Amino acid sequence: MIRIDGKEVANSLKAEIAAEVNELVRAGKPAPHLVAILVGNDGASQTYVGHKEKCCGEVGFRSTVLRFDENITEAFLLSEIRRLNDDPDVDGFIVQLPLPAHISEQKVTEAIDPKKDVDGFHPVNTGRMINGLPAYLPATPDGILELLKYYGIETAGKNCAVIGRSNIVGRPIANLLSQKGWDCTVTLCHSRTKNLKEIAAQADILIAALGKAEFVTADMVKEGAVVIDVGITRVKSDKTKSGWKLLGDVKFDEVAPKCSYITPVPGGVGPMTIISLMKNTLKAAKKEIYG
Ligand code: NAD
Repeated sequence: MIRIDGKEVANSLKAEIAAEVNELVRAGKPAPHLVAILVGNDGASQTYVGHKEKCCGEVGFRSTVLRFDENITEAFLLSEIRRLNDDPDVDGFIVQLPLPAHISEQKVTEAIDPKKDVDGFHPVNTGRMINGLPAYLPATPDGILELLKYYGIETAGKNCAVIGRSNIVGRPIANLLSQKGWDCTVTLCHSRTKNLKEIAAQADILIAALGKAEFVTADMVKEGAVVIDVGITRVKSDKTKSGWKLLGDVKFDEVAPKCSYITPVPGGVGPMTIISLMKNTLKAAKKEIYG
């Protein structure tokens, strides 16, 4: 059993991105510039944006965080988005979700110029991805693909089961793995799926992205399977200093011995998501997708 090390893969990709940024700057081009919009005081969102800022620094990007009060109007946020769309000094930007309830996430997502949509959430990028056209891929699915690539995991002709059909994880990863180049036969399972256990147990590659701690047990996993655990659930613990620990969607201790490869939580898929944001921002600066 090989325990997939997301931190190692993330560091290796970070070094590649930093080297490319170095080359750009040496050629007299500006360093890529990522802007993050943060609305309100949500603790988790502040932590995520902080990580993104730090990672930008590590790869040599310029980064700006625009912090707004939770009471700003939707109209104001949309006008800020238009300003960033038109600012030639901004290569890409993200609006950290969730937003306060009075602001429509859909309107905000659709207001972002697809050329600068480095989160890959705009329907134009989603549509291009589904059609197999160059697009900014959403972070978590792209992170999973990078892990599979790094470990040289064969996907062609394999049976893949994805548990969870969200727009940011389950659906896009199911679509991507079914595309040419990855060539999996994919079954997308969700809360209404019948015989989920049987489907999971036939999968050569099992991706758990449902957000239910330790849902996947050993009897649901085929001998020799590759198991990718996307779930993150914070639970109380008297064994950690913080009083909390993170659990994945897979019961790691009993599932791991059956696997050829497995991602731990934390330290598997998690560290990869930020890398995809960096990759997309670099692509935006180099005008790789939209010219
Ligand atoms: P979501 O809540 O939007 O979607 C969950 C999906 O799981 C739904 O499609 C639902 O149909 C399905 N589901 C729920 N209960 C089920 C059941 N009993 N059987 C089968 N399917 C079931 O969640 P999401 O945003 O896709 O996130 C999923 C998990 O991944 C969460 O724990 C989240 O915190 C985590 N996550 C981790 C990362 C990362 O960086 N590692 C990134 C994104 C999300």
